[in-house]
Amino acid sequence: MLTDIEIAQQTKLRPIAEIAEELHVCPEELEPYGRFKAKLNDDLFKRLENEPDGKLILVTAINPTPAGEGKTTTTAGLGQAMAKIGKKAVIALREPSLGPVFGIKGGAAGGGYAQVLPMEDINLHFTGDMHAITSANNLLCAMLDNHMQQGNVLGIDQRRVLIKRCVDMNDRALRSIVIGLGSKVNGIPREDGFIITVASEVMAILCLAKDLKDLKERLGKILIAYTYDGKPVYAKDIKADGAMTALLKDAINPNLVQTIEGTPAIMHGGPFANIAHGCNSVRATRLALKLGDYCITEAGFGSDLGAEKFLDIKCRLAGLKPNCIVVVATVRALKYNGGVPKAELAKENVPALEKGIENLRAHVENMHKYNVPVVVAINRFGTDTDAELKVIDDCCKSLGVEYALSEVFAKGGEGGVELAKTVCKVIDENPESHFAPIYDLDLTVEEKIRTIAQKIYGADDVTFTNQAMKSLKDIKALGGDALPVCIAKTQYSLSDDPTLLGRPTGFNITIRDLRLSNGAGFVVAYAGDVMTMPGLPKVPSAEKIDVDGNGVIHGLF
Ligand code: ADP
Ligand code: MG
Repeated sequence: MLTDIEIAQQTKLRPIAEIAEELHVCPEELEPYGRFKAKLNDDLFKRLENEPDGKLILVTAINPTPAGEGKTTTTAGLGQAMAKIGKKAVIALREPSLGPVFGIKGGAAGGGYAQVLPMEDINLHFTGDMHAITSANNLLCAMLDNHMQQGNVLGIDQRRVLIKRCVDMNDRALRSIVIGLGSKVNGIPREDGFIITVASEVMAILCLAKDLKDLKERLGKILIAYTYDGKPVYAKDIKADGAMTALLKDAINPNLVQTIEGTPAIMHGGPFANIAHGCNSVRATRLALKLGDYCITEAGFGSDLGAEKFLDIKCRLAGLKPNCIVVVATVRALKYNGGVPKAELAKENVPALEKGIENLRAHVENMHKYNVPVVVAINRFGTDTDAELKVIDDCCKSLGVEYALSEVFAKGGEGGVELAKTVCKVIDENPESHFAPIYDLDLTVEEKIRTIAQKIYGADDVTFTNQAMKSLKDIKALGGDALPVCIAKTQYSLSDDPTLLGRPTGFNITIRDLRLSNGAGFVVAYAGDVMTMPGLPKVPSAEKIDVDGNGVIHGLF
């Protein structure tokens, strides 16, 4: 079989104006970035504001292996399959970050015959949104340090600066740095550090903002530091919000692209799901709901991270009501959850699968707690055996959950017809969404965290370190108790220990610290050591990426 990039490069793309026209987007509502990418502007939002919404389908998954197990592939393939059965679907995805692209995982535009194109552009610079976000964040940091340099009227305590500079790259050497060294003109020396752009609050804000006005308000509300006498300092206090919004003026508009089979795909925003809220922008999802009869969207990592945040943070905030949740499972990832090392995942191993399948049970049961119908999609790999697939069939039957084998990676939309029919059937049988978040906003932050830990992770209880208790007190003083929580946790386990695979029991979740994302409107709770700046592996995938004399890129996957 061809590689993802070879399949992508063989595909003849249709002009993006044509894809837009099929969605009845007017030429004035489209801002083309070359021939195959475009932004959808505010005129389109305004025109569609009062149009009815289509059905919302969330694609999530079991706990992943280090390689990712096919949510994006399934999302793209399900969109393609919808077209095959005569349904009008629009896909809504996140934009890839360069961190994973050059690290272990590779790109994030799907795989095989279920891809969003042009994958080289999407995975590299796309329409520049990541750069705009990085610039807006770093402008805020530069203005903060400059404020301290130029007399520090606000009395900002350089030991209590809360924001960090960012770059869209896995670069561990930037985690902890000292800035401002040298002479007096070089700024105030202090400890600092970089985070990856997709972990920044600016990214989260871009994804949750309703419009430019809301974007500016939220940026202004970012808590950036404390003063010497312990008072909070916000971005608007140093007058950074206006210029930051100006830098994001175009980045706030969703990007329109297409799948291999010409299905419209809106890709916009890309917060990580372990350290941030993990789904594409509210604006992109809203537009996809207006433009299609079905909007298919993905939340990152397993359902304990991405889906929980999609449902409890994004849907609650934006008033979205999902109609169906697709849980992607693979034989490989379930075997991994049953204890099989990554290198041996291709070999048949029914006993390990039977052990690991407890993980699928947990995710299906968890998603049912939101009162939304669930469909399991079995993302088929070439190495899956019939005996192994039967174990998943039997599990789904015993759970009483609808399921379908998905072969979109190998066959494109054709391979997802059974999945598309199952999803449509489930939605037809449940035309009204009865979605309800897992916790109420009027609980305290501790109670919210405990609810997620017990109901979703399966923990006995939550332990807060002394540092966490101290931060909690500060956050409450600033009104943070009323906000939803975004738990930063490992993606590999339902617990906060990446080595506890399957469906762990008898454990506590330890919250080591908390942080107020005041502009985004949530409290981040750190469970275990979650990197806000990942590093590259020993052999980064960047080593295999190249471009020939004709400008054709190779080795991207
Ligand atoms: P996720 O969105 O869950 O992180 P992706 O859809 O990005 O996962 O897929 C991760 C990687 O696995 C990609 O490189 C993709 O090409 C590959 N992949 C996905 N599904 C299959 C499959 N059925 N067979 C082979 N490779 C697959
Ligand atoms: Mg993905």
